[in-house]
Amino acid sequence: MCGIVGYVGKRPVVDILIRGLRALEYRGYDSAGIAIFKDRKIEIRKSEGRLENVEKLLREKINFFSDSTCGIGHTRWATHGKPTSQNAHPHKTGHIVLVHNGIIENYIEIKRELMSRGHLPLSETDSELFGFLVLEEMEKGFNLVDSVRKSFLQLKGQSSVVVISEREPGVIVGVRNGSPLVVALDPEGGVILASDAQPLIPYNSEVIFLEHGDLIIGTAEGLKIFDLETGSAVVRPVVRLDWTLEKLDKGRFPHYMLKEIFEQPEVLVETLNGILDRTQSQPYAFSEQPGVKILDQAIEFIFVACGTSWHAALLGKYWIERRAQVSVSVELASEFRYCQPVLRPGVVVVGISQSGETADTLAVLREMRRKGISTLGISNVRGSSISREADAVFYTFAGPEIGVAATKTFTAQMLVLYLISGYLSNQRKVKNLDASSETFAGVIKLPQLLSESLQPNSKMMKQIYNTAMSLTKVRGFFFIGRGYSFPMALEGALKLKEIAYEYAEGYAAGELKHGPIAMIDKGMVVIVLAPRDSWRDKTVSNLEEVKARGAIIVGVGDSDDEDLKMLCDYWIPIAAENRSIDSDLLPFFLAPVVQLLSYYRAVLKGTDVDKPRNLAKSVTVE
Ligand code: GLU
Repeated sequence: MCGIVGYVGKRPVVDILIRGLRALEYRGYDSAGIAIFKDRKIEIRKSEGRLENVEKLLREKINFFSDSTCGIGHTRWATHGKPTSQNAHPHKTGHIVLVHNGIIENYIEIKRELMSRGHLPLSETDSELFGFLVLEEMEKGFNLVDSVRKSFLQLKGQSSVVVISEREPGVIVGVRNGSPLVVALDPEGGVILASDAQPLIPYNSEVIFLEHGDLIIGTAEGLKIFDLETGSAVVRPVVRLDWTLEKLDKGRFPHYMLKEIFEQPEVLVETLNGILDRTQSQPYAFSEQPGVKILDQAIEFIFVACGTSWHAALLGKYWIERRAQVSVSVELASEFRYCQPVLRPGVVVVGISQSGETADTLAVLREMRRKGISTLGISNVRGSSISREADAVFYTFAGPEIGVAATKTFTAQMLVLYLISGYLSNQRKVKNLDASSETFAGVIKLPQLLSESLQPNSKMMKQIYNTAMSLTKVRGFFFIGRGYSFPMALEGALKLKEIAYEYAEGYAAGELKHGPIAMIDKGMVVIVLAPRDSWRDKTVSNLEEVKARGAIIVGVGDSDDEDLKMLCDYWIPIAAENRSIDSDLLPFFLAPVVQLLSYYRAVLKGTDVDKPRNLAKSVTVE
């Protein structure tokens, strides 16, 4: 949600800011703006709607800014006030200009006080008020950095801000106390900062993830970091990112989402390499994972997550309970944080979040730590809040995911959870070692098998495309499945809603007759996920029930499952030729099916696949 970019240095700033904001577009926004130093004055261009509108305003006078080398930019995801140009950031108050991310919780109080002192805000935002506070401090004689610091300490809630002033050209002051800020040095002299690392990569892949309560000063000479509260200098580790520029590019694909779906085999390899010690012949040797000790001590787990990560968590439960016989409960973070859960001794709470910044999940982990409960994180982003605040973290190695709808990060989370289930089963000798080695051998084969199914001319690919394109005059979709296919059904329905805006429900196949079957008639499509696992026969019986009520049936199952195929109007074969595959691994083959079905439906409808309406990639507000 919302994106911040800032640069000060020796290079022309316009392109850096535009490219940076473009790299952050995936986070979701409704208006955008840029502020640039022109000599000692700050010029602002902002607009509601897409970034292109701002770019157009800038390009009109591109020569005017050709010697500018300092500026800040923002994409806004409105929380206070409508998404209008007036409310768009940056906001200018006297000589102060700022961009802000987050919410100032005590803004009503601050506004009242400011107005009583004769100030008149021009926008409806909470953010603009901060400029007045800084202005007042500077008027008392403090410099920019001290004024920002003093003003920031008056705010309640979680915010990150970046501020510049016409009184101090060439100085950028930023505070992170909410959503992330990442900084890097420009090797040519200067500093670049942004809400995530992507805008920084073209300049420097060695970055610093600021921590809560960090205040920075960036100038062409370099970077200084201070503790907001005490004002004393702090040192933060430099993290080297292995995200290549090529990974941030769509390449030959029309959308990032499609590219990311096809990257899944590679992501599985990376995640296996990242998590397992492949030099050891022993199955499930977790290479120096700090979380292993916590796994060893766990008596039971509570998984907390939101959205797609929650579906991965459900799969994790099925795997861990079946394979390792350790009890797992799965909770929605937004609910769990306001419940009064019973926490037994030996419980480990695991927060699963692609971005590592999901506000609700993060809040749960913080609360658990406060209570002295052991916590683990599963995240794709090194240096993210969850990765720092959980007792230990297991990383997924999916690389940057730009499409707002999670795809490859989902399969990477699945793999981590699957490996954890294998590790626990092995450690606790639930299954004999042989069985464990067998499943280990299965997981190692997974990337290759998945990549075969994802070949453009594979039967699976052709059938997904044909099915998605042929279903017209449809009122809605039900995804149904049992066992491992149930979380996949939920995920399929979520994907379809997210990117194709179609009415879709995910159900456990056995639940249909407890209500939703009343919805079924000729206009409904039922997508049945029934690979040959121990639940397949029961699912097929449920399929008969919906078929009898006129629904259009799309079957997803093993390629040689002729009986199932006969019952279906459309047929998508999976995992085809690989009968040897362990049925525990079948969800990995279902994931691309539900993702691609939704993708092609979205393409058919012409929606903005990578940036679906109203959604944000990293949900940093509750
Ligand atoms: N609360 C601020 C506003 O509504 C900032 C929103 C954001 O994080 O983009 O303008």
